[in-house]
Amino acid sequence: MPAEQPGTRDLIAYVTRYMLCDACHHAYGTGDVAVTGHNAGFWLLSATCPACHHHHHITAFDQPPYRLLDQRVIGLPPLSEADVEAWARFLERFDGDLTDLLHTLD
Ligand SMILES: [Zn+2]
Repeated sequence: MPAEQPGTRDLIAYVTRYMLCDACHHAYGTGDVAVTGHNAGFWLLSATCPACHHHHHITAFDQPPYRLLDQRVIGLPPLSEADVEAWARFLERFDGDLTDLLHTLD
């Protein structure tokens, strides 16, 4: 199970050291954080606040997520301000499934 994989202890230590409950800002203890999954390139963690019992789901990446992108995407020029404005206009009117839209890029 993911709890025994290398790196698990470091991830839990990071959460207890640097993250606070979203709801009440209480600190997490080691026993409040669990690794719930590990897939190619990322980890899933669950933290339960010891004070208010709010559940927080956390995704941690093995490396910066942009490194997982297809090399064709990485080779593109940087986005311009006009690109961002055009996407903002498009997304304001878009009423579909964004995941489906992004899969059309394959
Ligand atoms: Zn809390």
